[in-house]
Amino acid sequence: MRRFALPFVAFLILASLAVGDAVMAQAPVTAIRAGRLLDPDAGRILTNQVILVEGTRIREVGANVAIPAGAQVIDLSNMTVMPGLVEAHNHLALTYKPVPENNVYYYTYVQESTALRAIQAASNGIQMLASGFTIVRDMGNNALYADTALRQAIEQGWIPGPTIINSGIIIGGMGGQFSPTPEMVNDHNIVYPEYLDADTPDEIVKAIRQNILFGAKVIKICVDCKPYGYTADEIRLVIREAAKSGMKVEGHVQTLAGARNAIEAGIWSIAHSGALTDEMHKLMAQKGIWRAGTETPPGLDGHPVSPQAYQRTLDGLKNAYANKVPLTFSTDADYWVTGKTRGELCLEFIRPWIDAGIPNADTLRAMTVNGYKVSETETTRGPIKAGFFADLIALPGNPLDDLNALKSVQFVMKDGVVFKRDGVMTPAAFFHAGPVNGWRIR
Ligand SMILES: [Zn+2]
Repeated sequence: MRRFALPFVAFLILASLAVGDAVMAQAPVTAIRAGRLLDPDAGRILTNQVILVEGTRIREVGANVAIPAGAQVIDLSNMTVMPGLVEAHNHLALTYKPVPENNVYYYTYVQESTALRAIQAASNGIQMLASGFTIVRDMGNNALYADTALRQAIEQGWIPGPTIINSGIIIGGMGGQFSPTPEMVNDHNIVYPEYLDADTPDEIVKAIRQNILFGAKVIKICVDCKPYGYTADEIRLVIREAAKSGMKVEGHVQTLAGARNAIEAGIWSIAHSGALTDEMHKLMAQKGIWRAGTETPPGLDGHPVSPQAYQRTLDGLKNAYANKVPLTFSTDADYWVTGKTRGELCLEFIRPWIDAGIPNADTLRAMTVNGYKVSETETTRGPIKAGFFADLIALPGNPLDDLNALKSVQFVMKDGVVFKRDGVMTPAAFFHAGPVNGWRIR
């Protein structure tokens, strides 16, 4: 057998190359005429560009790109075309409401099954994509891995949605962010699966492995949800264990001591900005730690923010910007506001950036370039460059002049397929009865 193995393998390789070429040749080619093409990295706009998309990827971009015969042409010559947006902190499988749970997600979790929440996540994902978010970091509170199910369904090609970077279950010291009664812990462990208790080094390692086994792509911990929290050494253990599987760690931080521990340990990203002082910002900038500030604007129906709290949010954002902390756009959206989709709700969160006086070009970087980096897609997905996945959006205005232009996304392409055109969702091409991209996606 061994005598024949080598030529046979060579034949297989040649045959598969030939098949690969045939597949490449058959991939549909789309040419997009972009009147204005926004490059958020450079903070500038190029005019009259052509973007050639072949299959799922961008083949060529430029002013003098020849459009091949037979290519489908999409005319966006009166639009600004730009890369897709990134939401760095959402909870797609959670929507708490005034009725019946009085906006307490503890009750949402008691009343709604993982299955129901997974279907809701699919809906929220579609709503995010319609608003131009092509990548969403889904950071926990998603029942029993509804976030993984959503990611897999999108990656397999069953439904449209953003690229999902999901955390699985939030890992924390006993209780997570809940305050259960003794009965609810001893008899039912009601904390699980909304949180994964991990109090000792062994439990921490096991919790991380459980999340990775069940499809997490980033690890999320509660640094200081309880007074016992995690020490810098414990956070180092989390980072080490996650790194074995190539994963980064985000910490929910709400106290100064927690921030100090997380930063000292060298965490990847910090969620929430309430505890981040000038000193913490300086340390974060030094170490290149991402800030997912989750800055909430005032005026969201049912979710009041006091003028004092809002001022603190703005001061914190200004201070972070002045200290050159790496900034991401993040909302922590896990509720519903009357009349708005999840995507429209998230776009309301650009207001704090405007009110804090952050230059539009830098907010756009936070929403795109920095988003790709914090999601670790920056070498494959995000920028409108040859070889990258074809994710792009278009809108009539110019967001460099007015960020609110982002609220009028008319066109969305994801993986080379048109999802929204002329302001109308056209998702039919995304629905498949079988896993067109393969069963083996985990
Ligand atoms: Zn959150």
